[in-house]
Amino acid sequence: SNIPKIVILGAGYGGVLTALRLQKELNYNEADVTLVNKHDYHYFTTHLHMPAAGTDAHENARVSISKLIDEFKIDFVKSTVVQIRPQDKKVILEDGTLSYDYLVIGLGGEPETFGIPGLAEHAMNIRSINSVRLIREHIDYQFARYKREPHRTDYLTFIVGGAGFTGIEFIGELADRIPVLCKEFDVDPSLVKIYNIEAAPTALPGFDPELVEYGMNVLTKKGVTFRIGTAIKECTAEGVVVGEGEEIKSATVIWTGGIRGNRLIEEAGFETMRGRVKIDEFLRCPGHENIYIVGDNSLMFNPEGRPYPPTAQIAMQQGVVCANNLVASIRNQPLKTFVFSNKGTVASLGKGEAIGVAFGKKYKGRFAALLKKVIDIRYLFIIGGIPLVLRKGKFF
Ligand code: FAD
Repeated sequence: SNIPKIVILGAGYGGVLTALRLQKELNYNEADVTLVNKHDYHYFTTHLHMPAAGTDAHENARVSISKLIDEFKIDFVKSTVVQIRPQDKKVILEDGTLSYDYLVIGLGGEPETFGIPGLAEHAMNIRSINSVRLIREHIDYQFARYKREPHRTDYLTFIVGGAGFTGIEFIGELADRIPVLCKEFDVDPSLVKIYNIEAAPTALPGFDPELVEYGMNVLTKKGVTFRIGTAIKECTAEGVVVGEGEEIKSATVIWTGGIRGNRLIEEAGFETMRGRVKIDEFLRCPGHENIYIVGDNSLMFNPEGRPYPPTAQIAMQQGVVCANNLVASIRNQPLKTFVFSNKGTVASLGKGEAIGVAFGKKYKGRFAALLKKVIDIRYLFIIGGIPLVLRKGKFF
């Protein structure tokens, strides 16, 4: 048939928003839309620090894709993408092949290890439901192991590499979780050590310094030891080596130090910077008018020439404009330029504590934590309406 085929790779923030908007905007038989995702659920990456630490169930961080999209309008394919072939307008899946006229790449990023030896092998990452289930079980298991081998204090030492948003949000949850685990396993809390190690001269680089100081104080009071301005030189099965060769023994290293683009993007032959593609103002891949890239795999610069950090916020806004531009292309109408509208940023620091900047103001403490809940609930509302808010929203 002559109906254009749109294939969306990845049901993350960017992919889901693109699919939902296409579903709404396209007329009957105007295009065939297929959404491909590794899992039959969409997960809220921005919530994963909680199930990773064990302060919330992973069920609250995901929703099945069939509950989000209208399967009469969009074909959902549960499969893993193994190759993108722009020259053939084809995508190779683990169990088949799809051809497309328009492609949307929203596969999310991958951990960036900056070539630090041992990190890829020995550190865990907060990236998906499966990766956080592993972290949660691993942490619990260290307490159980310690009871059998009480000389192994490294079982009770937890290292988080990176003090960006993910690292700070996770360490806030971990600090809340430790007292619960100490009680459950009859462990003296003073034996537990939590380190946050960051190479940059500050935690949360680029964030408001007064809020950063507030956040570090809150976390220090909860028992976190910060090692800021300290680079991890190596990660081993025994722990990490930092600075000038100091070894910190630990059975648990969680790396949150950076994100790069998905390897499939480089392998497809696109020009990349740290695995990301510098897309045009319409969100298209240079040289490929039919390929759009949204989310962590896209690289865009702000008016001052600095790259926008990869966030769910920008991925969602890109999804909306991407869908608009796909519909416009099909209808031979002009495309819309993407303009990022910064709604602010809030980082949680564990239960009832957060720091944030929104509406041009700074917030900290309980009110910031409330703001964080509002942002989470707003997202649930955007993708799934009131029913999803009622099923997954955490109000207290
Ligand atoms: P993702 O949301 O990463 O989704 C990618 C999808 O593609 C997934 O569903 C995955 O299963 C699928 N996929 C991957 N590979 C394949 C494959 N080969 N085949 C098929 N499917 C595949 N951002 C904010 O704006 N605010 C926050 O407060 C915030 N907090 C965060 C807290 C944490 C703990 C973390 C880890 C991140 C946080 N972020 C936050 C960043 C934000 O989560 C990411 O920028 C965002 O998820 C990127 O969205 P995306 O659409 O690019 O891809």
